[in-house]
Amino acid sequence: MITRGVSALSQALAAREISSVELTQLYLDRIARFNPTLNAYITVDAEKSLAQARAADELRAAGNATRLTGIPLAQKDIFCAQGWLTTCGSKMLSNFVSPYDATVIEHFNAAGAVILGKTNMDEFAMGSSSETSFYGVVKNPWDTARVAGGSSGGSAAAVAALLAPAATGTDTGGSIRQPAALCNLTGLKPTYGVVSRYGMIAYASSLDQGGPMARSAEDCALLLNTMAGFDERDSTSLDRVKEDYSRELAAAKGDKPLAGLRIGLPREFFGDGCAPEVMQLVEAAIGEYRKLGAETVAVSLPNMKLSVAAYYVIAPAEASSNLSRFDGVRYGYRAPEYDDLNDMYARSRAQGFGEEVKRRILIGTYVLSHGYYDAYYLQAQRIRRLIANDFVEAFRQCDVIIGPTSPSTAFRLGEKASDPVQMYLSDIYTLAVNLAGLPGMSIPCGFADRLPAGLQLIGDYFSETKLLDVAHRYQQVTDWHVQHPDGFDRAV
Ligand code: GLN
Repeated sequence: MITRGVSALSQALAAREISSVELTQLYLDRIARFNPTLNAYITVDAEKSLAQARAADELRAAGNATRLTGIPLAQKDIFCAQGWLTTCGSKMLSNFVSPYDATVIEHFNAAGAVILGKTNMDEFAMGSSSETSFYGVVKNPWDTARVAGGSSGGSAAAVAALLAPAATGTDTGGSIRQPAALCNLTGLKPTYGVVSRYGMIAYASSLDQGGPMARSAEDCALLLNTMAGFDERDSTSLDRVKEDYSRELAAAKGDKPLAGLRIGLPREFFGDGCAPEVMQLVEAAIGEYRKLGAETVAVSLPNMKLSVAAYYVIAPAEASSNLSRFDGVRYGYRAPEYDDLNDMYARSRAQGFGEEVKRRILIGTYVLSHGYYDAYYLQAQRIRRLIANDFVEAFRQCDVIIGPTSPSTAFRLGEKASDPVQMYLSDIYTLAVNLAGLPGMSIPCGFADRLPAGLQLIGDYFSETKLLDVAHRYQQVTDWHVQHPDGFDRAV
C-alpha cells in the first residue's frame, strides 16, 4: 500500500480496500518512526489529521467523493492552514497558529484531502538545501549525510521516504524542481499566476508559485487539478478557463507517442558546470525521448548566464519589502526585553530571523536604496526581460526545452552552508524559468552512486498539460520514478 501513488491510492479508497482513517494512520505511524531521522515534518497533529480522515470517509459513504477524498498530503509549512502552526521555517513565526486557510489548502479541504502535517523548509523559502530552517536541517532519505535540496526539502524527503504519497511545494527560483531532483520525485512549478498565492507566505511575490511534488506526472496532474484556479484574493491570479491537466495522459498514442514533438536543447544547459555523471543521465534521457518519436533541435538562451545575478537582486529586493511586516507587533515573535519601540522592532527582528534571511534583507534594502536602485534593481529588471525574450525566441523553434535540473546530485550537509555564493550558483538551471514566469518540471532520470538526478522540462506559458504528458510518456518506458531509498521499511 505504502509505495502506491496518489492515483493508485485513490482507486484503493474508491474500491473500499482501505479507509482514509486507516491510510492516514499508516502514514502517521511511519512519520512517528522515521521523522526523527529525516526531520521532514515540523508539525504533525494526529488528532486533526484523523478528524479530517473520518470526515473524508463520511463524504465517501455519502457518495460525494472526489479523486482526492481521503488522500493524506504533506503541506509545506509556507501555506497557512487554519488551526495549524504555520512557521515558514522561522523562529519569527514559531508561535503563529494561522487563523485562516490559504486558497490552496481551501481547495484541498474542499476536495476532501487530509493534511498529514506541515513540512520543514528553508527559512522563508530562502535556500537550496533546507539547512536554514529554525527547526533544523532536513536529511535526504537516499543518504542521510546529504541535503534534501531546498527550499521544499521537507516535502521532498517526506514523499521520498514514503511518509506521504505527495506534497505541496513552492518554487521561487527552483524550490520544487531542485529538491524533487535530489530526492527522486516528480515536481511541477506551474506558470506564474496559475496557482493562487493567497495564504502562501510571501518571499518574492513576482516569482513565487506553488505546485505539486509527487512520484509521477500522473499524480502531479491530479494535484494540480485541485490546486489551480482563479482567485480574486490574489491580484496576480490568472482568470482562465479551468483545465483538466490529466486529459492527455490517458490517451493511447502507440509506441511513438511523442512523434512530432520538438525538444529544444539550449547550448547553455550543456556546457561546463554540470557534473559529468548528471550530464550522462540527462543525455540518456534525451535518447529515450528520441525513441519515443521526439526530435531535438539546438536552441540558445544567451542571457541565462545572467540569471543568478539578476535573481539574487530581484528576489532579495522583494523579500526585504515582504518581510518588513514581521515587526513583533502584529503577529509572530517579539523580543522579551527591550527599551523602547524602535529597540523592540530591532531586537525582535534580530532574534527572530536567521542569518540567511538577514543577508537577503540587507541585500534587498541596499539594491532598492536611493542611488543604487538604478544600478542594481532596475538593471536586474532589464535582464529579466532579456531572459524572458530568450525563451520567446527559443519556443519559436521547439515545443519543450530539456536540460538538467541541478548541476549535481545531493551535496553533503554543510558542504555549501558557509558559502552563500556557492549555494546561489547551484540554482543556475532553475532561476531563469521563474524570472520568465514559465512552467517547469523535474522528473527522475537515473542514479549516480545511488543518488538520484533530475531531468528538467520547461514549457511555454500555460503548457502544463503538455509538460505533464511529455513527462508521463517517459515514465511509461522508464522506472526511475518508482525506485525508493533503502532503510525506510516498505513492509507496511
Ligand atoms: N534557492 C533559491 C533561493 O534561495 C530559490 C528558493 C525558492 O525557490 N524558494 O532563493
